[in-house]
Formats: sequence, structure tokens, C-alpha cells
Amino acid sequence: MRARCQSGRLALAPQLIIAISLALSRQVAYSDNVRKQRSLPDSLAKQAYSRILDKILKGEYPLGAALSRRKLGAEFGMSFLPISEAIKRLEQEGLVESRPRVGTRVRIPSAQDLRDRHIMREALETHSARLFAEKASADERTEVCAMAAHLDTMTDRCASGDADRDLAFETQMCHLSFHMRIAECSGCAALCESLQQNHVLIFNWLYDVATDHHMPPQWHGQLADAIVTGNPDTAEAAMRSHIRYGIEDIQAEIVRRFGTLTSGFDRIQRSRASVVTTGAWRTKASVAH
Ligand SMILES: [Zn+2]
Repeated sequence: MRARCQSGRLALAPQLIIAISLALSRQVAYSDNVRKQRSLPDSLAKQAYSRILDKILKGEYPLGAALSRRKLGAEFGMSFLPISEAIKRLEQEGLVESRPRVGTRVRIPSAQDLRDRHIMREALETHSARLFAEKASADERTEVCAMAAHLDTMTDRCASGDADRDLAFETQMCHLSFHMRIAECSGCAALCESLQQNHVLIFNWLYDVATDHHMPPQWHGQLADAIVTGNPDTAEAAMRSHIRYGIEDIQAEIVRRFGTLTSGFDRIQRSRASVVTTGAWRTKASVAH
């Protein structure tokens, strides 16, 4: 297979319109799938989990923001129990952290967190790109090219400054769906499960939002062009370059905005005497459960 996307010069032929529609329906399906994977035994806890996670990913609760169970319960019209269940799940997933007598907040990643997640993402997604190059069908290649073109259009709108939070959220969901679709077309279910269960793409989304990281024009069209060539080495190299782009800038920006990449709670303990705060995170006195 030697397909080429030429996504920057994409004309919306009927078959591509169909492919974009298919891509968008897959985006919705993936979104539903993500929510199923987040499933908690109690439906209220599930709702609380999804609402808190959406707010974190929209940047409404930024890194370091205090999460008061009492305030969340009042905002969502829920009791303490489902909110606590949701927070517990988010803690297990590494998205929030709690300390006794201090409170709960959105976790600020340590340098080790960022390194580990980057290594995990690169390992999984470069292999995903290799397998895609080898195994994807002609329809799947067309679909991924259409998704890339749609994503690049949304990214351009975000970069032009006319993006509100909802458009930025939709763009990130589209970004997640694009990378997930490449993995799905690899034919390796275990690889897809690893991406989902480790929240590899969710953390990438979170750090992009936290640092206002923008991708270059035609960024995903170029990646799609490389992986549809059918050459596994070309696909792997393109994906590696894609994943490594801006990683040092993101790390530096997190340090600049949120302080040194040690444990955020350790920093709070050290600075408590001077009542120094970081972002929306406040001292113990303002944290209600
Ligand atoms: Zn990407």
C-alpha cells in the first residue's frame, strides 16, 4: 500500500466526507468507551468522576487546584459518598492526590512522572505506528488521513485565538481519538488496552492544556502522510518525532507555572509558614472536605 494523504491540500471528495463522518462517529464511540472504562459501581460516583475529569481536562481545575469534597458535592448536587468514590478513583489513576489533614488537589506531575509517561507513550505509540503501517487496510488509511485533516483544521482554529474552552476540549478529544484510532488499526487489542488503562493520551491532553501547548500547522497531516506510506521504519520515526516535539518546553513551562517538579505536597509543607500558595491551591485552612 502506498497511499498518500496530502492532507494540507485535501479536497472534500464524497469519499472523504464519508470518511470524516466515520471518524467523527468513532470519536463519539471512543468517548463513550472511555466513559465505560471509567465505570464505577455507583452511577452517581460515575457521574461525579466524569464531571471532575472533564473539568480537569478543560482546565477549569488546573494543576494544583484544591478539590473540596464539600464544594464539589454542592456544585453537583450530590452527597459526600459519590464524590469521595470519584476522588478515590482519580487518585488511583494519578490525576489527583490527597494528604491527611491537608486536602485533595489536582496532581502536579513530578519530573519523574513526566519522564515515565513520556517513555510509556513513546514505547506504545511508536509500535502502534509500525503496526499501522504494516496492517491497516486501505479504508483505515483513508479514515486516518481524514481524521488528521479535520484535527489540523480544529488545531488551526485554536491557534488563531478564536477558541473557547468547548472548542479546545473538542479539539483535544479529536486529538485523542486520532491517536487511539491508529492504535486500533494496529490489530493489537493489548496495545489499545495499555494506552487506555495507563491514561497515556489523557495525561498528554492534561499537560497540553496546563501549558497552553499548541501544535504546528498541518502537524497531524504530516504524521498521517508518514504512517500511510506502508513503511514501518518511516512510520515509527515520524511518530517518535511527533511525540518528542515540545516535550522539553512542556516540562519547562510546568516548572515555570507550578514550581520545581518535586512533590507538590512536599513543597506546600515547606512553604506553609509563609502561606505561599501555588495556582488555585491554598493552605490547609481553605481546604474543606
Ligand atoms: Zn498528536
